Amino acid sequence: MRVKAVIFDFSGTLFRCEDTRSWLRGALAEAGIDAPDAEITGYAERLRVSGGQPGGHADFAVPEHLTSLWRRRDLTAADHRAAYTALIRLAGLPWPGLDEILYDRHRLPQAWRRYPDTLAVLEVLAEHGIPVAVLSNIGWDLRPVFEYHGMAHLVASYVLSFEVGMQKPDPRIFRLACDLLGEDPRDVLMVGDNLVADGGATEIGCSFRAVGHLAVSERPRALLDAVRHLRWENSLASAAAAGLDGAHAA
Ligand SMILES: [Mg+2]
Repeated sequence: MRVKAVIFDFSGTLFRCEDTRSWLRGALAEAGIDAPDAEITGYAERLRVSGGQPGGHADFAVPEHLTSLWRRRDLTAADHRAAYTALIRLAGLPWPGLDEILYDRHRLPQAWRRYPDTLAVLEVLAEHGIPVAVLSNIGWDLRPVFEYHGMAHLVASYVLSFEVGMQKPDPRIFRLACDLLGEDPRDVLMVGDNLVADGGATEIGCSFRAVGHLAVSERPRALLDAVRHLRWENSLASAAAAGLDGAHAA
């Protein structure tokens, strides 16, 4: 496969949100509320079932009255907050105002964990002169996450749905990302954890590799595996395989 640039999804691909108990525990600490472990565990499970944690588990049902808001949640910051705080409230937490505190916490760089091979894959691509874009359906600015984790210098462009008023799998948003990278879509690889949203890149001719929406501890090198068989279109092409398997074998 010939590739001159790579687009990565954010949540569930390069980063994963903290687990739901850690999220709830952090918000309670922020609010100055003490709660016993058993209570935190119980309400974390209710939050998991309600789908209130952005980037969390995907196996939940959005109730009828929220479906319209849910569909457009990534198009504006206000709708993103409204959709997720509504889902958080479905969990019936006993702490007034914690819905907003939980929402705010999920946007903190400290609330995001990078996968074990996130830095390695971005460094390998940089070493081979392959520019990277991050393309996310999201309602807030994720650039500080990359800055906090020391990876901002490895990302050439960000395309965020709420900033551009489009969301994956709209072909126009993939085309925008390719344009920013300065490459023809046929020379661009999309890597993501959502077969529909991220896989939509194939509509404009990009290639696509899927990674699993797993906990960071359960996915040690899916990102490296996604790029290991690429044929790099630059002067270092012949070193690609060695670079992947040699420099980052540890
Ligand atoms: Mg994702």
